Amino acid sequence: MLIDSHCHLDAVYWPDGPADVLGRAEAAGVGAFVCIGVGRDLAAARAAVALADARANVFATVGVHPHDAATTSEADLEEIARLARHPRVVAVGEVGLDYHYQHSPRDIQDRLFRRMVGLSREVRKPLVIHTRSAASDTLSILEQEAASDVGGIIHCFSEDRPFAERALALDFDLSFSGILTFKSADAIREAARYAPLDRILVETDSPFLAPVPLRGKRCEPAYIVHTARYLAEIRGARPEEIAAETTRNVVRRLSLASVAPAAHDKREVLFE
Ligand SMILES: [Zn+2]
Ligand SMILES: [Zn+2]
Repeated sequence: MLIDSHCHLDAVYWPDGPADVLGRAEAAGVGAFVCIGVGRDLAAARAAVALADARANVFATVGVHPHDAATTSEADLEEIARLARHPRVVAVGEVGLDYHYQHSPRDIQDRLFRRMVGLSREVRKPLVIHTRSAASDTLSILEQEAASDVGGIIHCFSEDRPFAERALALDFDLSFSGILTFKSADAIREAARYAPLDRILVETDSPFLAPVPLRGKRCEPAYIVHTARYLAEIRGARPEEIAAETTRNVVRRLSLASVAPAAHDKREVLFE
């Protein structure tokens, strides 16, 4: 079994709803999903929580993406803080810094990121970190805010080995997406080979970043099998070993085995 540790399943990307997408992933051997609840407004966060409440194998996160830092109000932040306490919410995120698109000014991203680290500490749930073209500021903030108290995941890892070393030391696991399979990703591959087996995760970041050989297509959680297989290949491991380890790692990191059962799904408990 594989777990997609990071996917976007809200209506912005899947206007027909997530049922078919999840069904195809389940048929491909994906047993569980961490659905990221971020968006331009609160709809994505609410939808992620509702989906996690409806299905035993979906878990939610809530947070404010750095893209949306400038347009998020105090009232929104209060609602995010309330949702973060929901028993099916397993992490605060994705939060962080994005200087590539820089949809929000840097100082506002910085302030919001620090607040999200604070929220994570308050609700005692780990962080899911987004960082793009902002490696050194991301690490500085995590260090200054003592984020190692809560730990978490560097999602869609697209940095290099020195970044990986510092992130691992801060108690952040590395989650690899389809980018790992891209031709230009040598530095990411080096980090993926270097990271300890018990600190690596896999994700799709659906609907973005479909892995080779499906690059360019709209990415869905079923495609995670390609990323996991590729990760096994470059580490010289067996695919079953990578599947088992990455599953164990995300279950441990997000305490998935101890999450309260979904309110509307009578399916059996997933992890024992
Ligand atoms: Zn992201
Ligand atoms: Zn994402």
